[in-house]
Amino acid sequence: MSGTERAGDDSWRVVERGFDLARAGYHETLFTVGNGRLGTRGSLEERHPGALPGTYLAGVFDGHDSPVVDLVNAPDWLHTVIWVDGTRLDVATAEVVAHERVLDLRTGTLHRDTVFADGTGRRTRVRTERLASMADRDLCALRVEVTPLDHDHDHDRAAGAAAAVVVETGVDADRRNLDRLPYYPDGAPSPPHRRWDKWARSTHLAVADRGFTPDGTGVVQADTIESGVRIAYAAAVLPGRAADHRTRLVAHESVAERLEFRVRAGETVRVDKLVGVATSRDPGCDGEPLARATATVAAHRAGGFDGAARASAAAWERLWHDSEIRVDGHAKDDLALHLGVYHLLIAANPDDPTVSIGAKSMSGEGYRGHVFWDSEILLLPFYLFTQPRTARALLSYRHHTLPGARAVSAGHGTRGARFPWESAATGQEECPLWTPDGKDRFWTRDEELHVSADVAYAIGRYVAVTGDERFLLDAGAEILFDTARFWVSRLEDRGDGTLGLSDVMGPDEFHSHVAENAFTNRMVRWHLDEAVAVFRRLGRTAPQRSAEIAARIGLTADEVDGWADAASRVRVTDPDDAGVIEQFAGYFARRELPIEHWDDNDMPQYPAGYHHFNLEDTTLLKQPDVVMLHYLLPDEHPLEVQRANFEYYEARTLHKSSLSPAIHAIVGLQVGDPAMAVRYFERSAYVDLDDNQGNTVEGVHIAAAAGTWQVAVHGFAGMQVLGGRLTFAPRLPERWERLRFTVRWRGHAVEVDLGRSRRTFTLRAAPGTTEVIVVDGGELVLDAGVPATVEVVHAG
Ligand code: BGC
Repeated sequence: MSGTERAGDDSWRVVERGFDLARAGYHETLFTVGNGRLGTRGSLEERHPGALPGTYLAGVFDGHDSPVVDLVNAPDWLHTVIWVDGTRLDVATAEVVAHERVLDLRTGTLHRDTVFADGTGRRTRVRTERLASMADRDLCALRVEVTPLDHDHDHDRAAGAAAAVVVETGVDADRRNLDRLPYYPDGAPSPPHRRWDKWARSTHLAVADRGFTPDGTGVVQADTIESGVRIAYAAAVLPGRAADHRTRLVAHESVAERLEFRVRAGETVRVDKLVGVATSRDPGCDGEPLARATATVAAHRAGGFDGAARASAAAWERLWHDSEIRVDGHAKDDLALHLGVYHLLIAANPDDPTVSIGAKSMSGEGYRGHVFWDSEILLLPFYLFTQPRTARALLSYRHHTLPGARAVSAGHGTRGARFPWESAATGQEECPLWTPDGKDRFWTRDEELHVSADVAYAIGRYVAVTGDERFLLDAGAEILFDTARFWVSRLEDRGDGTLGLSDVMGPDEFHSHVAENAFTNRMVRWHLDEAVAVFRRLGRTAPQRSAEIAARIGLTADEVDGWADAASRVRVTDPDDAGVIEQFAGYFARRELPIEHWDDNDMPQYPAGYHHFNLEDTTLLKQPDVVMLHYLLPDEHPLEVQRANFEYYEARTLHKSSLSPAIHAIVGLQVGDPAMAVRYFERSAYVDLDDNQGNTVEGVHIAAAAGTWQVAVHGFAGMQVLGGRLTFAPRLPERWERLRFTVRWRGHAVEVDLGRSRRTFTLRAAPGTTEVIVVDGGELVLDAGVPATVEVVHAG
């Protein structure tokens, strides 16, 4: 692979060797560090030409100066520049003799080791280490070490000459968001480092204050211009030894310290920096982010960088303990899974129920940090089965944004709550109307209604897997009810006793303005049935709380009876004679256009002359639609029907969404197509590792990372929840010798170890606890702490 190499079979580290400008943006994304509260792209501390550095704070959005709100490119806490004898050490000014960066997935730390040569050939080594603490989500830490390798600056110089090594480090709030991202057309004329310069940028920050506190902590406060969030950073610079000169720099939008050292050849100077980050929107912040940020730094000063790194590594160890997944037999698959889980772990924060995960997490500006159905359908299962508290927080975000969803519904003349297609801080619709070039209209915002049913589905899954009925009372029921109300007012009477939906778009975004989209209609029926069932159940189990919820939203039992009636009348498309379910009314009459070209990454290509916006009158799909329905409701149709639909739609799917391949892998396995499943697994698993969509620079495909985890767990391990039980039907790919992972199930942990000849399951729970699971159709009783093994009998 160019740029990124894997060191031996170490599947816990992603390594970059050598600096390649063309791959720099890819590494910035891949090497993002974070802790769910913030994400910081893996940019070089001193930046490179065309760099896209960014720190993004969960939930901090702003709409000033841009057509729709952006996840704000917040102040840069990395900001560091090094000069050696007057030469700025960066990839454009000095020569890069050697460069290696290693992202340690186990500890969430990014290590850098670069040797620069200046104009006279003198070499200096720069090593850095950075992390966003997983132990204290308000804390970031950077270590910088500079070693002149073969030159000894100080001795021949007259006293008072410029110091040899200068390290300037601080916080820089001079940040902009990219306003319009490029399309990557074939043969794009500009070199990568110039490409970004052509695009508009927007300003979201107004610096309110910057300077130093009496104890020398650098502080910057900035407000988001439209949304009015105050952001405060406090930075303590901690040199390993006293600098010969130390200067505080206060500029219009930044603070920094400049430290000058006289350094002998081979000697290393070290400068550490601890940065506290807080915002006025943080739960418990009481509008005083500066006090909170400075308190964070004060609390960690004594322990320094090493203390922060140790505490964070310990928190990471606990996270991996709950979420570890390992593949024996294929190092690249193992690494891809670890990298994906790493990004999932830095994307979510169990302690903040007011945020969810954007389509590119906090690793880039693609989709402007907006939240899609990705969160509930692709991402949620990972958290649900590994970090249920985080799953609860993610679903709570939809409760937090219900007022916005009510406004969206009212804006369309319907009742109840309708979740927006693209959501940010408030639940209002944030999807732009037009493509950046103004040529094409996004109908997704008007028509991709299914997101409301997807949220309902996710709530149902969460409660089924965790048994956390309390969540329904706290948040889930209100979401379910108010969105059910939306559906009932949106459904159209077809005049024959049935109800349908016109002018919708299913998950396949190549077709707009359609009626009776099989996916949407069926999910709406599911949603209404679930809302009715939950209303009636809570009426029995928690009558008082349930009456309070109903009173709050003015809901009566009669209205709920109406939902039950509507559910029974929603049009649901049956399979035709060949077993195929028509994606929407009239789909079969659209033009057939064969897929004939695949790229080097085995990804299908648009037929010549076609693109995202001109496939309406063809049968080509962007991503699974009917196949997605089989994934979400696998009991709905017999396997033959699922197989017929898989084969039919597989031949017509272009997979122009990174959400797509994982679903095809899993349903492929469901219907008995294991070879296809491996192919699709690769497309999903390697999307960022191999940059197989060419746009990793904009941020990781976080839904694909979670989809990949689902392929391993729900696909290859065949794990499902059926009849209230955890069931397994393993079918490991030939190239995997063993698959191991841990899932949480109803408050306990189940360790799963699937080999070729034996399958072992261990329940981690209080002594005396038992659990019955189903393996290949047979019941298996698990006693806490005692591994239970099933030998595999091979046919023949
Ligand atoms: C896909 C959507 C997805 C969105 C964000 C689009 O390309 O078609 O299904 O929600 O990307 O990931």
